[in-house]
Amino acid sequence: MTKENKPENVRLRFAPSPTGSIHIGNIRTALFNWLYARNINGTYILRIEDTDVSRSKMEHENTIYKELKWLGLDWDEGPEIGGEHGPYRQSERKEIYIENAEKLLTEGKAYECICTEEELEELREAQRNRGEVPRYNGRCKELSDEELIEYKEEGRKSVIRFDVPSGKKLIVNDLIKGEVEFESDGIGDFILIKSDGMPAYNFACVIDDFLMKITHVLRGEDHLSNTPRQVMIYDALGLEAPNFGHLSLILGPDKSKLSKRHGETFIGEYREKGFLPEAMVNFLALLGWSPTGEEELFKPEEIVEIFDINRVAKSAAVFDIEKLKWMNSHYIKEADNKRLFELVKPFVTRAGIMDENTMDDNFDWFIEIIEITKDQLNQLSDFPEKITIFVGDEVDLEENIKEEFLQDENNINLVRELKEGFGDLDEWSRENISSVIKSAGKKLKLKGKKLFMPTRIAVSGEKQGPELDSLIYLLGKEKALNRLESVLSQVS
Ligand code: GLU
Repeated sequence: MTKENKPENVRLRFAPSPTGSIHIGNIRTALFNWLYARNINGTYILRIEDTDVSRSKMEHENTIYKELKWLGLDWDEGPEIGGEHGPYRQSERKEIYIENAEKLLTEGKAYECICTEEELEELREAQRNRGEVPRYNGRCKELSDEELIEYKEEGRKSVIRFDVPSGKKLIVNDLIKGEVEFESDGIGDFILIKSDGMPAYNFACVIDDFLMKITHVLRGEDHLSNTPRQVMIYDALGLEAPNFGHLSLILGPDKSKLSKRHGETFIGEYREKGFLPEAMVNFLALLGWSPTGEEELFKPEEIVEIFDINRVAKSAAVFDIEKLKWMNSHYIKEADNKRLFELVKPFVTRAGIMDENTMDDNFDWFIEIIEITKDQLNQLSDFPEKITIFVGDEVDLEENIKEEFLQDENNINLVRELKEGFGDLDEWSRENISSVIKSAGKKLKLKGKKLFMPTRIAVSGEKQGPELDSLIYLLGKEKALNRLESVLSQVS
């Protein structure tokens, strides 16, 4: 779409229910709405759908804010910042829904129902036994006002149900799925206002989308079956429905529903494991949307620039954790070391390696370590393992290396030589360290692997690790000497 024919005054919303952690699918919905809004210079609205009183929790609401902010998905209207069409928390809009439901009651487009949960279950059971799809049969529709009052006096609670018109074809021109057709006859009279006075999802959603002037509703495919219900409510209220677009499911590589087997399913788990927000945004954006070329690495601002709703796929998106790890390692490599220093802090402290203050005191040291290890990290939680090699004054040779190492005279002489050479160094630099190793090799007639491997083992106890000069340099003189001494002390 060219800039010229982009729609104007587009208003999109993300409308999560604060009933738990945020699932990958939901955050993808949040992202696509945000990308589209930002691409088109529209408005991005956050609405909290907290009408399920028993399951909605403030802590979950706070998690929503936290994850959105972490990913950089800022909103233009919504909780915390307000806006012209607030309040943006549905629990604070109760009167608005009641008012509209009463309008439908008065017009005979909705009715009160006093059926108890037991009666409804009986009804469903009977329908199932007859091989029918269970749905409300409308039996309260015919109740007179007097009967209603009597039932209520008996202590029965009432709900307001929508009177679904019969024999109606409902056509939704979905931005992603294309034309989808529904029959109203397949839909039972559904609830608008629950017995606790709170609106049901479909009703609150319509009222709010209308009052908040939402132009495009982008949400998960799991809501497609709600759309005909919402369309009927718009019709009954004489309102124009927004554009709908339903995003396809996210599946695992084995084409089954995304589950723990394929990776973590909540966005917070990725944050905690040390995935970078820009990697998540890049990865999630490609779950259902694709740019025109082959390139797959895009920073958030680049995606905003090229995001195109017409390139969102109809078919299911495949969640490939290996691809996410690859993207994350790319963004870690690109990230500024100072930023990484702050980001690895919780991982280092949690691993019990060092507390934050000590880390701050060793800032320069950490920056160098980050520089030499960052290209080996898939996620920041890999970092503590990479620095254990730099921690501790002793080298404990593992059983399988120990005997072979200590029995070779050359190795012992080399360790003595290195200890002396390093001990004599006035300036602890990579160049000087390298010269000490070279001259020890010359003196003992050792070179290549025979020189470098024993040196590496003697200073770290490991056969692999960071580049040798850097490793020794970053140990520091004292630690390097202590480690060599600890190896010599193991010679029997
Ligand atoms: N509260 C609903 C959810 O979290 C919103 C669905 C919609 O976007 O209409 O699934």
